[in-house]
Amino acid sequence: MKVSKFGGSSVSTASQIKKVLDIVNSDKDRRIIIVSAPGKRHDKDIKTTDLLIRLYEKVINHLDYKNKKLEIVSRFHDIVKGLDMDDHILGEIDRTLEHLIETLKDQPERLLDALKSSGENFNAQIIAAYNQKQGIPTQYLSPKDAGLIVSNEPGNAQILESSYEKIYHLTEYNQKLIIPGFFGFSEDNHIVTFPRGGSDITGAIIARGVHADLYENFTDVSGIYRANPTVINQPEIIDEITYREMRELSYAGFGVFHDEALQPLYHDRIPVVIKNTNRPSDPGTFIVHDRQIDTRKVITGISCDEGFTSINIKKYLMNRQVGFTLKILKILADYNISFDHMPSGIDNISIIMRSSQIKGKEQAVLEAIRRDCKIDELNVEHDLAILMIVGEGMSAVVGTANKITDALANAHINLKMINQGSSEISMMFGISNADAKKAVKACYSHCYAE
Ligand code: ASP
Repeated sequence: MKVSKFGGSSVSTASQIKKVLDIVNSDKDRRIIIVSAPGKRHDKDIKTTDLLIRLYEKVINHLDYKNKKLEIVSRFHDIVKGLDMDDHILGEIDRTLEHLIETLKDQPERLLDALKSSGENFNAQIIAAYNQKQGIPTQYLSPKDAGLIVSNEPGNAQILESSYEKIYHLTEYNQKLIIPGFFGFSEDNHIVTFPRGGSDITGAIIARGVHADLYENFTDVSGIYRANPTVINQPEIIDEITYREMRELSYAGFGVFHDEALQPLYHDRIPVVIKNTNRPSDPGTFIVHDRQIDTRKVITGISCDEGFTSINIKKYLMNRQVGFTLKILKILADYNISFDHMPSGIDNISIIMRSSQIKGKEQAVLEAIRRDCKIDELNVEHDLAILMIVGEGMSAVVGTANKITDALANAHINLKMINQGSSEISMMFGISNADAKKAVKACYSHCYAE
């Protein structure tokens, strides 16, 4: 059995939806389908989910929201019309939005989640009804009926482990099931959404729950590129990548697959393939547990994410002080700051975090460190970027670090920090934000083009 998820651009118009259903109906193993809300139809377009967020903002600020609501209904009108379907569903969409606004307007977080979820919810209903009308036995299933019971944290749902048993029952349906992505229900029956881009997470949960042989994630590219295609002109597509490599690359900016979606798949080693709805016969990229390493191409991908801050601390004889790092980390915990890396020397330590983590708290944190840790020197570096070089094969091959530092030196890029975890699956370099693109270009051409 395959679980197939189609992203926003794949279900943004009637003609895209027809392509999706051709793919779905061409394979009897594609029995459970997860769909996103209609995404962008062109570069300047707005995603339906973003329109729904704007609707929420109007409501909450007591502004006239009728036009915003109309804009949303009209997105679905275009789809319904393009599919030649009865338009009574448009009235239902309008009434459902009004009902949510009316009943939840005094509970902003609940209203936001309920409105955000309705993009996928309406789309799944339309797609199921259309496929049924084509004579293919198809059923819409709400995440509640599918068994997606989640934690009660608006916008940040986590699946409850107990859900998986119920989800397994989806294997008993004979017709094709269309399930909206992006949200579940809390135990006390509230709609709760996953983080943005979370339809991938729904798909992964369902794939694990039904013990799928394959989780197909359809999008608008033919797989995962070795580097950001807006920086590198037509980068190579990766044919196979491990979950661990994918996690490292998505941490530093690879956005094609939600990193939280890897967890349920990793748990049961369910393989994933990233495929293109517009070119379904392209092989795509497989994400797997283990893979054969090609020692001639040990670097699987290169990513670089901007917007990090480093707190650099010096303390003479730091290595002899018991509990020094603990004091620093306690301060970060007190200020609810999560950090990402902590490279250290004998008398110095740096704590690197996403700048958004420390925004608005910097002065207070620095004062607390000065007060509690008796340090010699303290400074903060903003505008850092993290360059990640990722590949399972690096541990077996000599000279990869040399290759990268060479490429960076030739491009006159100053390395502020180097870190390699003991697994040797990735190397991390701290560089200046301003060098981020240049660094990716230099490494890419050094690793693949020569
Ligand atoms: N529609 C949601 C979003 O735009 C979820 C998704 O498409 O995966 O974030």
